[in-house]
Amino acid sequence: MTDWPRLIRDIHDFPRPGVLFKDIMPMLADADAFATVIDALAAPWRDVPIDVVMAIESRGFLFGAPLARALGTGLVPLRKPGKLPGPVLEASYALEYGQDTLQVQAGAVAPGARVLLVDDVLATGGTLLAARELALQLQAEITGASVLMEIAALGARARWDGTPLRAALVV
Ligand code: AMP
Repeated sequence: MTDWPRLIRDIHDFPRPGVLFKDIMPMLADADAFATVIDALAAPWRDVPIDVVMAIESRGFLFGAPLARALGTGLVPLRKPGKLPGPVLEASYALEYGQDTLQVQAGAVAPGARVLLVDDVLATGGTLLAARELALQLQAEITGASVLMEIAALGARARWDGTPLRAALVV
């Protein structure tokens, strides 16, 4: 079992002054660490019925795709505007400065599909809540959410919807 958290670097003032950026690239580059992380992300969901992993652009894709394979589910990418051929559904969310939008293809999952939302870092929670809104627009059932890392001090968990929210690492 690799000590993978030590391979996540704190980068001060990136991409803007005042942000402590969690750089996961060295962890991804380490074969043992990457395998250990995907196993850790999959573990809580092994016995939970899930139809589809919905992964958030872009670093969520790096975990969502292998997690979908580990759990034997389908994969639905949630993308930034202009990337998916339409028709699309969309949800906007606040960033520290301004706002951003996520889109999903209409009909990407059948109504009632059991979805697991996946991203790399949970900070304020706005991104994950937008992903949740897209899943609800598709009339999917939110089974829960899985993130590599939760920054607990930012309080996203208190804003979450009460479905299981798993983090492989809480900082
Ligand atoms: P939030 O919507 O505030 O929860 O932000 C989560 C999204 O922004 C995720 O998709 C992350 O990739 C990215 N993010 C936010 N804060 C950080 C951080 N400190 N380090 C790395 N990524 C971050």
